[in-house]
Amino acid sequence: MARLDIVTFPNPMLARDCSPVGEIGTEIRSLAEDMLETMYAAEGRGLAAPQVARALRIFVMDEGWKDREPAPRVFINPEITWTSPETRITPEGCLSLPGVTARVERPAQIHMRWTGIDGTAQEEDLHGFAAICAQHELDHLDGIVTLDRIDRQTRLALIEEYSA
Ligand code: ZN
Repeated sequence: MARLDIVTFPNPMLARDCSPVGEIGTEIRSLAEDMLETMYAAEGRGLAAPQVARALRIFVMDEGWKDREPAPRVFINPEITWTSPETRITPEGCLSLPGVTARVERPAQIHMRWTGIDGTAQEEDLHGFAAICAQHELDHLDGIVTLDRIDRQTRLALIEEYSA
């Protein structure tokens, strides 16, 4: 296992549309392990491949490890197949935007499908912080960061603070 460098905004890697993962072989398995190690070391709760400069549709998540036993999960080629009409606004941090917290409004619940690291098809209803975290990470695979999901004025203020 190895720790990877995390790219930070405005690195163009973070604005890329990532490619689907094909065969899940040694390379993908070791990328997932390295991403988990990197996420825990950076004290994050989720990390997407473009954040470690790989334009692939894969993210790792363990949204509750700070409050319970670690439960690492790998999401390959994830898709959201349903979103709840009710939304919630959550202050979201991002390992690629150190020091920036943006209040993002998102559906409160989602249904997601993905391929697990063992190659099996998975699906689950996600709610609470897991739903928010998964949407944040999936956004990264589409080249979207939290700053793209807030109003222009707040965005400009946060960018100014970030670059100060
Ligand atoms: Zn992020």
